[in-house]
Amino acid sequence: MNVTLFHLYASVAPMTDSSSALGQERAAVADACRRLGAEGLLIGTAGNVSLRAGERVAITATGAVLAELTADQVTVVDLDGKVVAGTLQPTSELELHLGVYRRYGAGAVVHTHAPMATAVSCVLDELPCVHYQLLALGGTVRVAPYATFGTPELAESVLDALDGRGAALMANHGAVTHAATLGKAVEHALLLEWACGVYQRAASMGRPRVLDEQQQLAVIEAALARDYGTTHPVPPAQEGNR
Ligand SMILES: [Zn+2]
Repeated sequence: MNVTLFHLYASVAPMTDSSSALGQERAAVADACRRLGAEGLLIGTAGNVSLRAGERVAITATGAVLAELTADQVTVVDLDGKVVAGTLQPTSELELHLGVYRRYGAGAVVHTHAPMATAVSCVLDELPCVHYQLLALGGTVRVAPYATFGTPELAESVLDALDGRGAALMANHGAVTHAATLGKAVEHALLLEWACGVYQRAASMGRPRVLDEQQQLAVIEAALARDYGTTHPVPPAQEGNR
């Protein structure tokens, strides 16, 4: 299938550049890390988050405790990886983040070692589309072959696994998600972790059923018809009947 909910809802990041030190973006990255830490997806110093604003990227520093991250622990780089603001070295997965921005025009990237996603990445070659919500990530989630952390080989294999997808698993390592906004990239990370948990529980009881192409297409059509995922006010004529 060539069209998925991910394609339909994905849009590239706004191309407005900023000459500032990205104060708001650095604060937003720190907020996202604390949220993902509270949800159990970012543990200790493992994982990294970035947010793009035009030609600049606010990205977590290497060695920082992510669940307690503050804006001054977020470094600003250009799209070549040169540090332009901040006092700390950026994450060792900088090339992976920059690659996602270059190849897919993303607005934000989240990389975690979340427990369920990492467990699945140790066993499967792909997370099958066992639940229709996975279509928000593009359906089946590929597992990129293992390579040493921080290497161009790992970045390349993860970028390939992300083709047409908002998420990929990284063999024996973790997960990466991206989206047009940081909020969406965080949502994708939470959705992927939930889906990996569902799969693990389902597989413990037997062979999980997988949604076939026709079932996936029907979900996309239904979602488009109902503008799924957004709230809708009750029309005024019906308000008195609630
Ligand atoms: Zn990692």
